[in-house]
Amino acid sequence: MSENTVAAISTPLGTGGISVIRISGDAAISIADKCFRAFSGTKLCDLNGYEALYGEIYDQSGVIDDCVALVFKAPKSYTGENVVEISTHGGVLVTKKALRAIFDCGATPAMAGEFTKRAFLNGKLDLLKAESVIGIINAKNESALKINRKARNGGLSKDIDGICEKMLETAASIAAYSDFPDEDIENLNIENFSSLITECESKINKLIENFDNGKAILEGIDCAIVGKPNVGKSTIMNLFSRSEKSIVTDIAGTTRDIIENTVNVNGITLNLADTAGIRNTEDTVEKAGVQRAIQRQNDAQMVLAVFDNSSPLDSDDKKVLCSLDRERSIVVLNKSDLKCKLDKSVFDGFLTVQISAKYENGIEDLAEKIKTVALKNPLSENDTLLITERQRETAVRAQKALKEAKEALFAGVTVDAVGVCLDDAISALLELTGKKVTEEVCNQIFERFCIGK
Ligand code: GDP
Repeated sequence: MSENTVAAISTPLGTGGISVIRISGDAAISIADKCFRAFSGTKLCDLNGYEALYGEIYDQSGVIDDCVALVFKAPKSYTGENVVEISTHGGVLVTKKALRAIFDCGATPAMAGEFTKRAFLNGKLDLLKAESVIGIINAKNESALKINRKARNGGLSKDIDGICEKMLETAASIAAYSDFPDEDIENLNIENFSSLITECESKINKLIENFDNGKAILEGIDCAIVGKPNVGKSTIMNLFSRSEKSIVTDIAGTTRDIIENTVNVNGITLNLADTAGIRNTEDTVEKAGVQRAIQRQNDAQMVLAVFDNSSPLDSDDKKVLCSLDRERSIVVLNKSDLKCKLDKSVFDGFLTVQISAKYENGIEDLAEKIKTVALKNPLSENDTLLITERQRETAVRAQKALKEAKEALFAGVTVDAVGVCLDDAISALLELTGKKVTEEVCNQIFERFCIGK
């Protein structure tokens, strides 16, 4: 338990229906009793946990607002400590004054992520669950929410704990083998150790392999729409955005700067960028736009390269085609409602889709292809995913240590050395869940939270 009692506004500071101020620590209830009085006359300290009182919050100058005070008693609260949540009306001034009154009665300001950090330190959640809380708050799409909810409910922790347990068993067997190498004990042999290590290794490999897929789902993919002028880039942008963000005209060279929008396509978040049409031009402003388009294309994780199906390939199209990287590009043959005048064989080897953006034909096919490029390895419903770079980095350390353990096993090094490598792998997994973590790492994680969480 922490010694001091902290408080912060847990809802976004702005005008709204209500604001919630959270107080956590040993003295949370007694502090709240000093600045809150219930209309019934009951004191908060006389409540059981999960009970609320309606009353008013006040300071030396008088009543600030009427509000509801909800009491949670340790250990049955988010932080595992005594917690009072005070819901005032959602005005900026009212909320700030109420918080100041709580500070005046003895609470200190909570740091970013302090409530969740306390929950972690009090054993209410492990690090994987704590990190999923930020993920839930920041989720940009249904899939991201689902992945983080699964981690919040312990899905990821269970998988990591399972691997860790297997490693601990293996380490114990190796220790026993090293103590009695000449005895013929069932399962205590090099082959069995090797298969146990391989089993753990393949589970960790899978988690690492899936990380990029998870990242694509969680954070969205930077996707540039490129092509010469008038092929329909802005129409495609607007179709996905369902708005008139980009100007659609039949005058070539209309989009001169980059227009951005974040959209969801089949559960994938795309950070779309509609770029200036790529062509040779003497116009200074348009030239700058073309330069930016090329830059954006180079930086993008995915490229939708648009061509006009109704006109033969010209030198500007060829320039676009030559600049494409097959791995991350989708060739979009637009205006399929018009007569085809394009030699499609030039796109052999590219992932290609035929659409009419104007009449919204072929869009599902394009959406499917976007998903294919976004998720290099298709995910299954049951896959658990690592959700932060920290988690990936720690898993990579475990992977490396397991590889060394196997190499040591086959190199005929003493089994003690294998045990040491296994211990390193176990340490990494314990750090992943937070069972063994330095204060510095812990602080780094919770600093990424917002104040009040
Ligand atoms: P951009 O310069 O590449 O952004 O092209 P725009 O999206 O501004 O479109 C240029 C012109 O092509 C406009 O007149 C659009 O209405 C038209 N256009 C876009 N998509 C299609 C399509 O699928 N079929 C037809 N027939 N016209 C289209």
